[in-house]
Amino acid sequence: MNPVGKPGKTGSLMPVEAALARLLEMADASRIIESEHLPLAEVEGRVLAQDLVSTLDLPPWPNSAMDGYALSLADWSGEPVPVSQKIFAGQAPEPLKPGTCARIFTGAPVPPGADCVEMQENVLIEADERVRFIEPMTAGQNIRPQGQETTVGEVILSAGTRLGPIEQGLAASLGCAGLDVVRKVRVAVLSTGDELVEPGAELGPGQIYNSNRVVLCSWLQRLGFEVLDGGILPDDLPATRERLGALQDVDLILSTGGVSVGEADFLGVALREQGELMLWKLAIKPGKPLTVGHFRNVPVIGLPGNPASTLVTFALLTKPYLLRRQGVQDVEPLKFSVPAGFVWPHAGNRREFLRGRLEQGKATIYRNQSSGVLRSAAWADGLVEVQEGRTLVQGEMVPFIPMSELLG
Ligand code: AMP
Ligand code: MG
Repeated sequence: MNPVGKPGKTGSLMPVEAALARLLEMADASRIIESEHLPLAEVEGRVLAQDLVSTLDLPPWPNSAMDGYALSLADWSGEPVPVSQKIFAGQAPEPLKPGTCARIFTGAPVPPGADCVEMQENVLIEADERVRFIEPMTAGQNIRPQGQETTVGEVILSAGTRLGPIEQGLAASLGCAGLDVVRKVRVAVLSTGDELVEPGAELGPGQIYNSNRVVLCSWLQRLGFEVLDGGILPDDLPATRERLGALQDVDLILSTGGVSVGEADFLGVALREQGELMLWKLAIKPGKPLTVGHFRNVPVIGLPGNPASTLVTFALLTKPYLLRRQGVQDVEPLKFSVPAGFVWPHAGNRREFLRGRLEQGKATIYRNQSSGVLRSAAWADGLVEVQEGRTLVQGEMVPFIPMSELLG
């Protein structure tokens, strides 16, 4: 195991990848396995518990991709032919009478005996209503073969897939009225700090409004987790013990604030007493200190309290951890490289995640990157990743992670 960043090792910082790898290992060891069966309309945002295997061919029978005429090219003489039947979508056709064609519409089953559909724009109707085919045709044209999309027995969606409108549509196309989904991971959110006041109340001297609470509660809900809002935890050891002890039946305790080493870190004390405490110092900016451990075997992650630090460490570490516990394999956000539209003259010793925007295809960054400034993230539409030890000139390529990837 990578010793970097273990408590007691001052000066060495744990790389972001190492922290994520350790968190995912822990998540793998405590994956949620209970599942529930839900109606299809209610699975949006949930995670599939079992492979979805097709019990149908799709399409179930060859059907027409066009409004036109079905015929047997193999038997066709080249002369105009009469129409022997009309087949709309939703109808069952008769076998095609030899020497005739069938009027057919998009999505209608191709009649047995026909091997070709010609679009209606390419035919002439004779005075006696026979159909003259005037363009060259090939066997199979404009026919969607049976099983073109899916065949019986194929795995259509794997266990661990996050379900959204498209997956719901796929399941519907196979006739599934409901799906087995993993039960939601339950997360208790705690904000720590005597300075915190909830919005709506009067601010006293030295107090600030609690913004992390609503950020995390809303975000967790959006990600499909169950949220237990634990409110504000005062900077006080007995209260911390008591409030942690009261959190029953949760899969993660997620706190913000009070993780800076040296300050009155009551969460840390409580974990040391009744669980396990690891204080990681991460090579990440914003968001260096991270508490990882458990309280009476309930996993705990303590994020730094500064709002931009909370955001970055939640997005890049906590979200993947929680999704993995929920059973999702692919948990890392998509990123792509864009040219820097700014200069970065001083190399840092931590990986920086700058709140940035794409403007004319280039990454620009908010003027104030302080970890206390949530406005930077509201302005941004992504995070610009600057590696440890790296400087940048205008136009150099940098990874960009869209905010939509992080939020959803
Ligand atoms: P801490 O990690 O407790 O040292 O907090 C770091 C900074 O973040 C301090 O300026 C806190 O006042 C601020 N902070 C902590 N928790 C919150 C919160 N829930 N909402 C807004 N700011 C916070
Ligand atoms: Mg604090």
